[in-house]
This record gives sequence, structure tokens and C-alpha cells, in this order.
Amino acid sequence: MENFMDIFANIQVTDMLDILIVSFFIYKFTMLVKETRAEQLVKGLIIILIASKLSFYAHLTMIHFLLKNTMTIGVVALLIVFQPELRKALEYIGRSKVFTKSAIELEEEETDNFIEVLIRTCEFLSHDRIGGLMVIIRETGLNDIAATGHPIDAVVTEGLLTTIFFPNTALHDGAVLIKGHRVMAAGCLLPLSENQNISKSLGTRHRAALGLVEKTDSLVIIVSEETGVISLAMEGKLSRYLDSNALRSILRSKLKAPKKNKTTLFGFRRKKSNE
Ligand code: ATP
Ligand code: MG
Repeated sequence: MENFMDIFANIQVTDMLDILIVSFFIYKFTMLVKETRAEQLVKGLIIILIASKLSFYAHLTMIHFLLKNTMTIGVVALLIVFQPELRKALEYIGRSKVFTKSAIELEEEETDNFIEVLIRTCEFLSHDRIGGLMVIIRETGLNDIAATGHPIDAVVTEGLLTTIFFPNTALHDGAVLIKGHRVMAAGCLLPLSENQNISKSLGTRHRAALGLVEKTDSLVIIVSEETGVISLAMEGKLSRYLDSNALRSILRSKLKAPKKNKTTLFGFRRKKSNE
């Protein structure tokens, strides 16, 4: 018992770091191997390893000798049989975010692409005078509204959105709900605004957009079927007559996280040369 306590008393930070790094790599390795053909082989090797150790402690010399040699052959066999998988695994490690772009940079790039898809969709709908109503969900969940339409779970693309709004198709009426760069549902019914001051020239599509942003933090893009005018509703208000640049800058300001000051490894802000 004392020995046991001694071990704990002597544990140092580097030991903990050591354990953490090894655990991380074992976890990554398990994830890579899981549900691949290699899983069975690795399990087999682990069983042989345990059996080999047990036979050593039980003084079963012959069995130990055989298992030890089988183990060596097994490892070589593993390398040969799974050469393609190993190559892929190494490529995967090479591509990992540690060596390439950070998660934040990738997220920013994805958001930029997403915004461009929305802009191209609006340009197409506006040019062809096709009505569009797209809700970008932010914090407030809209599962109840999604339930009024048809569930879809697909990456947002220009082709998908323009197809949905194409006149006389099954899903073209109502709003498309977008959550995390994916189309969640189409043909959804939004609550109409009861504001009496809305211009009489605006019909139900625009009123529905306003109705939603009066109650939630969503952004709603509207393309008018009658005029091709692109509008954006948010925070209870409607901005009309937006061109692509105006729409881009609003969407960027609302959907992209503000850039934080660059910090060093220890959290201190890097000094600018002129500071
Ligand atoms: P537009 O400028 O495109 O004509 P509008 O504001 O004048 O738009 P309407 O002409 O009344 O509006 O557009 C009707 C369309 O708006 C419907 O066919 C439907 O697709 C959509 N719409 C109407 N009410 C709702 C609602 N509550 N929720 C979602 N979509 C709606
Ligand atoms: Mg109308």
C-alpha cells in the first residue's frame, strides 16, 4: 500500500503530460481502426499479446515462445496487409488541422462560401423573377416552424435552393429554413407580422419575414416575385433594395464571428511594430 502511495506522491507534471499524450494517440488510433477491416486484426494481436504475457508468468515456455513469434509475424503481416490503410492514415495525419488551417479559419471559409451561395441564389431568383424566402436560423430554435413544412437535411447549394423555389413545384411555396449551412426544411409557414404600419405594397411574403424576425433572432432573405427586389429582415426590421454587395456585408457582419486580437502562446497580445 505504501509503495502504491509512493507512486502517486512521485507523479510529476511531465508524467501526466506523458500519459495524456499517449492516451490521445491511443484514442486517435482506436478511432482510425474502429469499424475498418483492421479492427479484427488489432483485436487478435491484443489477445495474443495478453496470452503471451500470461504464458510467460505461468512459465509455459513453449506456448510463450510460439505466441511471441506469432506476435512478431502478426505485426509484419499487419503492416503488409494494411499498407493502403496505413498510407491513408498517414495522409490523414498530414492533412490534420494542426499542420494546415485552424478550425476557426476553416469555419470562416465555410461561412464565406455559404454567404456566396446565398448571394448567387438571390441573384438568380431576382433575375428570373422567382419568389424566394430563406430563413437563416441563429440562436432561437425553429423546430415548430420546421414542422409546418417538409423536412430536408442537405448542404445548402445554389442548385438546391433555386430548385426548391422553382414555380409550381411541390415545395416552392413558403419558406426554406437553413440551420448551420444545411437546409433543414422547405415549404414552411412563418407567422405574419401584425404591424399596421407596414407599407400596403408589401404582401404576405414580406409580412411573413417580418413576423418571424419580430419574435426571433433569425435572418430572413426575401426575393420578390413581382419586382425581383432583394430584402433582408432582421431584428424586427426590413431592409429593401439590397444589391449583392450590401447583402454580403450585412450577412458577413451577422454570421461571422468578430476577429479576436491575435494572441501569443501564453495569451499576451502580440505587440504591433508601431506600438
Ligand atoms: P412578392 O413581392 O414576391 O409578390 P409579396 O410580399 O407581395 O411577395 P405575396 O405576393 O402575397 O407576397 O406572396 C405570396 C407567397 O408568399 C406565397 O405564395 C408563399 O410562397 C409566400 N408566403 C405567404 N405567406 C407566407 C407565410 N405565412 N409563410 C411563408 N411563406 C408565405
Ligand atoms: Mg405579391
